[in-house]
Amino acid sequence: PYDVLVVGGGPAGASAAIYAARKGIRTGIVSDRFGGQVLDTQTIENFISTTSTDGPKLTQALEEHVKDYNVDILDLQTAKSLEKKDMFELELENGAVLKSKTVIISTGARWRAINVPGEEEFKNKGVAYCPHCDGPLYEGKDVAVIGGGNSGVEAAIDLAGMASNVSVLEFAPELKADQVLQDRLNSLPNTTIIPNAATTEINGTEDVQGLTYNDRETNEERYIKIDGVFVQIGLIPNTEWLKDTVERNEIGEIIVDKYGMTSVPGVFAAGDCTDTAYNQIIVSMGSGATAALGAFDHLIRN
Ligand code: FAD
Repeated sequence: PYDVLVVGGGPAGASAAIYAARKGIRTGIVSDRFGGQVLDTQTIENFISTTSTDGPKLTQALEEHVKDYNVDILDLQTAKSLEKKDMFELELENGAVLKSKTVIISTGARWRAINVPGEEEFKNKGVAYCPHCDGPLYEGKDVAVIGGGNSGVEAAIDLAGMASNVSVLEFAPELKADQVLQDRLNSLPNTTIIPNAATTEINGTEDVQGLTYNDRETNEERYIKIDGVFVQIGLIPNTEWLKDTVERNEIGEIIVDKYGMTSVPGVFAAGDCTDTAYNQIIVSMGSGATAALGAFDHLIRN
């Protein structure tokens, strides 16, 4: 059995595995795709101490760093369920069962896609999901934000400081964001709110040049010229597989304490799958370290 079994091979999981292995305890890491969201990222300019890198490079560096330690890496394996018996038992989709004294869940999250033509094609070529990450790439350009909830309006306010113009497309007749955010958005000179807008296509050739939507009030098709579009219709934590094993909040994020511990003693969680306030590489690595140190503390006390 393992002392620490990490589930998820993104930056949170890699960090947790390294911190655990450095304590000289038996560590394993299971992931269905090592690298996680980082693998889908092009330019990374906010990973502190590294001026600029990209997803594949950072993933390779993470893998090399993990391999520098005595860690069992089980890549291309999907966790199916977690159960507490005399130890924790993690069942994989392939039927194998892994036993461990403690578990660190770091299965990350995925952005909800709008699923219209052009979205997949222009990912990283004008279609973006993270304003903290890609906002500065649109300095002086025209961008659209799809989604008028809190994250969409926050993104629009953030982008308005850099972009030339920001259009916010909301499917419903009114924005859903908190009033204070709407007031702030309305106070900015370079933002436009487009209600009743159902995006039907993201248009472009090499990269994004425009966006087509259906005006749901008049049922007319409209086109706006833009250089980038930020899809902000939700980030879904990859925690469905846990069912009721650990406590999750109303949007499925695992609730953790300051040691990264979940509602089940011995089960820890880190990164985007938790109720952390911000989802960033550097934040998830920090929480991975916390969870590993928390797990080690738990092991020496039990
Ligand atoms: P993830 O990276 O989501 O990793 C989750 C891991 O768990 C993966 O290995 C996955 O395969 C695995 N997994 C999931 N379910 C299971 C299962 N059931 N069984 C086994 N394994 C499973 N952040 C920045 O700081 N800077 C940026 O520039 C930046 N750009 C971004 C660009 C894009 C396009 C995206 C999508 C995100 C970006 N982010 C950026 C956010 C950043 O990538 C995430 O905050 C970070 O990757 C979260 O790390 P994580 O380890 O918690 O989860």
